[in-house]
Amino acid sequence: MDSCGCGLGLCEKIQKADWQKEKHVPVVDCPEKVKPGEPVQVKVTLGKAVSHPNTTEHHIRWVKAFFSPEGDRFTYELGRFEFNAHGESAEGANKGPLYTSHEVAFSFRTSKAGTLHVLALCNIHGLWASEKKIALA
Ligand code: FE
Repeated sequence: MDSCGCGLGLCEKIQKADWQKEKHVPVVDCPEKVKPGEPVQVKVTLGKAVSHPNTTEHHIRWVKAFFSPEGDRFTYELGRFEFNAHGESAEGANKGPLYTSHEVAFSFRTSKAGTLHVLALCNIHGLWASEKKIALA
């Protein structure tokens, strides 16, 4: 049995660390207090303190955001953001002209306080997560 008791074991593969020391941790910038129903602007970056490579062989594939309202049995997906260009081309790896950057901005509205969960996937270093509590003003 895994530590959270879900029985799937996936949660044990989701890594967490201090973003100031670990390049894979999503850094979530958003207000800590929001007005109910008002847009919440969120920016997610990786490698803010320690940069993460962005090459054909090693890059961030996607970021996904979820919100778990307080007292709600379920969590809700806010969005999924794919980064699909990493220098691939017919000339070979890292010879292409395009690289998507692993950063994303989006907004949402909530009528309840809760926790914003952000997941990121590195193609070779797996799943990473961070979260941020959001209170109602
Ligand atoms: Fe990596």
